[in-house]
Amino acid sequence: MSDCCSVNAKSGTAPVAMACPAKGGRSKRVGMLTVKSLVRKLPLKMPNTQYYFCDASDCDVVYFAFDAEAPRFRREDLVVRIGAKETADPIPICYCFGFTRQDIWDEIRSTGKSTVAERITEEVEADRCACEVKNPSGKCCLGDVTRTAKDRLSQKKSRG
Ligand SMILES: [Zn+2]
Repeated sequence: MSDCCSVNAKSGTAPVAMACPAKGGRSKRVGMLTVKSLVRKLPLKMPNTQYYFCDASDCDVVYFAFDAEAPRFRREDLVVRIGAKETADPIPICYCFGFTRQDIWDEIRSTGKSTVAERITEEVEADRCACEVKNPSGKCCLGDVTRTAKDRLSQKKSRG
């Protein structure tokens, strides 16, 4: 059983979302387990504070803390590429099963539809995903997968 929904003592006082100190992007809470899993090299004596995930594309900061003294982490500090911050392929969308934006686009190009969301849903239902330790947002990627496919399909339609 994962503890992703539990509230620890520190996060009890921290707001649900905060503005990123670098560019002001609205950033949501992210669990410490996610931060610890995805930051390449953790600093010694990292304080146990509430961290936030900034997904703004024009911002280099990925994680910052409620406690302003706590270290911030940038794109290069993480073991994965942050899909929301990348403009060049590969742009990861699903971090558990490795689907990229290109995979979704390729399937749409060859079959006219996208089955990635369905395939991931099956894995999620069977409890075979690991979003909390693989996705930098700490959340499930299904929303992003669905959005990416929908955007591509409507682009295709409008082009005729
Ligand atoms: Zn930011």
